Amino acid sequence: MVKSAVLGYPRVGVNRSAKKAIESYWAGNTSAEQLQETAKNIRKERWESIKNAGVDVVPSGDFTLYDHLLDHSFNFGVIPQRYVEQKLSPLDTYFAMGRGRQDRAKGIDVVASEMGKFFDSNYHIVKVDHSPSTEFSLKNNQQLNEYKEAKELGITTRPVLFGPITYLSLVRAGRDAPADFEPISLLDKLIPVYKQLLTELKEAGVEEVQIDEPILVLDKAEQQGDLFKKTYEALAPVAPKITITTAYGRVGKSIEFLKDLPIYALHLDLDREPKQLDEVLAALKPTKIAIELGVVSGRNIWKNDLKASKALADKAIAELGADKVTVSTSSSLLHTPISIKVETKLTPQQVSWLSFATEKCEEVATLAGALNGKESEAFEQNSKDIAARREFERTSDSAVRDRVTAITEEQLKRKSPFPARREAQKKHLNLPKFPTTTIGSFPQTKEIRVARSKFTKGELSKEDYEKAMEKEVGSVVEFQEKVGLDLLVHGEPERNDMVQYFGEQLNGFIFTQLGWVQSYGSRYVRPPIVVSDVSRPSPMTVRWSSYAQSLTKLPMKGMLTGPVTILNWSFPRADVTKEIQSKQLALALRDEVVDLANAGIKAIQVDEPAIREGLPLRKADWDNYLTWAVDSFRLSTSGVEDDIQVHSHFCYSDFGDIFPSIQRLDADVISIEASKADLKLLDVFKSYGYSNEIGPGVYDIHSPRVPSEQEIKDRIASMVKVLPADLMVVNPDCGLKTRGWKETEESLANLVAAAKWARETY
Ligand code: GLN
Ligand code: ZN
Repeated sequence: MVKSAVLGYPRVGVNRSAKKAIESYWAGNTSAEQLQETAKNIRKERWESIKNAGVDVVPSGDFTLYDHLLDHSFNFGVIPQRYVEQKLSPLDTYFAMGRGRQDRAKGIDVVASEMGKFFDSNYHIVKVDHSPSTEFSLKNNQQLNEYKEAKELGITTRPVLFGPITYLSLVRAGRDAPADFEPISLLDKLIPVYKQLLTELKEAGVEEVQIDEPILVLDKAEQQGDLFKKTYEALAPVAPKITITTAYGRVGKSIEFLKDLPIYALHLDLDREPKQLDEVLAALKPTKIAIELGVVSGRNIWKNDLKASKALADKAIAELGADKVTVSTSSSLLHTPISIKVETKLTPQQVSWLSFATEKCEEVATLAGALNGKESEAFEQNSKDIAARREFERTSDSAVRDRVTAITEEQLKRKSPFPARREAQKKHLNLPKFPTTTIGSFPQTKEIRVARSKFTKGELSKEDYEKAMEKEVGSVVEFQEKVGLDLLVHGEPERNDMVQYFGEQLNGFIFTQLGWVQSYGSRYVRPPIVVSDVSRPSPMTVRWSSYAQSLTKLPMKGMLTGPVTILNWSFPRADVTKEIQSKQLALALRDEVVDLANAGIKAIQVDEPAIREGLPLRKADWDNYLTWAVDSFRLSTSGVEDDIQVHSHFCYSDFGDIFPSIQRLDADVISIEASKADLKLLDVFKSYGYSNEIGPGVYDIHSPRVPSEQEIKDRIASMVKVLPADLMVVNPDCGLKTRGWKETEESLANLVAAAKWARETY
């Protein structure tokens, strides 16, 4: 018999009950007991929803109040001293590790652990500090507790946990650890804790565990065969049957050692990497290892093509036999919203394309049924829905596709190289040395948010809403003139979000009402969904930028989100490549850039903060990605004359390994986050001989703290030691939307004063 499984489920709770309960606890409105009670109810709701969908193997232990990697550290007793010193309750210590805590009156002040992106998803893990002296001990066997909790409800589960090698690869080397310390060196100390945890599970009657080792899809795992062998040879004898899961990519050469591990089954991500199946089956056939086929995507929201998945599974059954095959999700479903059934504004056609977590559970169950010879209406309906979707894809927008096919090399290039453009821009914009500017947004005040929410609810007319936004733009322009900035912005008050705002105005996107996906902790986002070919029915920002320009003689900078970022922060289509989607977006933005220039806007910024985070996990895939990503940016910005100054902004600065691509963007000016980083990052620009203008952020906008004039001067002085003064632009690290007006006014006044000083000094 083929079985069905899912690797994990969203934590948000129906109606975002988890988020609300956690935030209410933080605000002091509910007790720890109440929070734990809600958490228990949510776990029940999750198990029942998976079970009722017909799934055989139900996960437990994957629920978390903040982050599951943080749970592991906390359960293993890894609590850095700075948290211990606060003398908080265990629950508050846990939250302090995740999000920091400040309560001056009580003398509590501790910063959060570092956060990091989880593989190439938009979920962020909490990376607790480890050092050579870190000791592990099993303080809380969460997997066992939750297994028992489910058992009491009559549901037998498969406990889930990170494997020791992935755990140690994801956590962080603490600041006071020696420079060459790597947490993986703690493996021998950690294995006994895993042994104890797994022994306890086995003694409690647990039959199988899911051990997540997604690190196996990275290049570096290919060198870790010995570590895997040592670890699993130690764990297997005391553990329930072990399924190792991979997720987010292909196992590649690591299959050479995986096939010899003493495990029950190996899980593969066949959504991302269906081609790896043949090689893995060939490797597993002579062994006893079973296979778990991650065919239903944990990363996208598209209905699975069950017939195609069945074909893959049939292959596996032919090689290994049905008893050694489980069908599953490609990763945990934590990256998807809970259910499509609660959406009321989507058309029946749109609904028929999509599957969220609950529907994905139904899919794995239906698929297992079909593989076991059960005819079902659900399987038939799926084939019909997929066929209808394919038909829609074929017919959606040939004009857009033809335009993508017709893209020429010429369209990817500005008319002249940078030095010539620079001369033209100097005349056109007439900016001083060390020109000052900002990254785009100004404080999104309560008034702005109230007006928008009234407008969305229909309580404010479009006319009145736009008037309110114009008034806001007016005061932002007035302030910038008064404080003495050189290149102005309109402040972006009309934007709810830098991606959604554009998605809403483009053809090809749809939006959910309740499609919340966890970004980190209690923060959830609702990514737009790309459903068909993307085009721009009419200008999107010209109205706002020209209005702002009409209020001032100083140059106004137009503000757009770039193609790669729009795509990366949305759910992409699964039927065409990301490259094609990105180029369609780029063409739409190209038209917008040209329209802005025609409307008299002399500088245009195209933000690409997501270009770096979209970098593929395996190096072999980088070139292809960087080629189309950079081409997309160039395509969107190269339609204008030389005298238009093209800016781009990145929220990060760790360019080292992709530097040539940053140069190849050929933006006239780039701004990067730099105030917190040390100046080593600028050395990279120097050593590569970066030739265009650059604005390394001179102060951190993530905190309300006002930087003094002297601090900014010092910052500029140290930057000028590394980069040519005549290429420097003076700006903050990022947009100011999360800041208040008071600190913004003071900080920018200091920034302008420091730039004036720099003009006289260098
Ligand atoms: N222009 C955007 C802003 O200022 C850029 C934000 C970002 O890169 N995250 O808000
Ligand atoms: Zn930014």
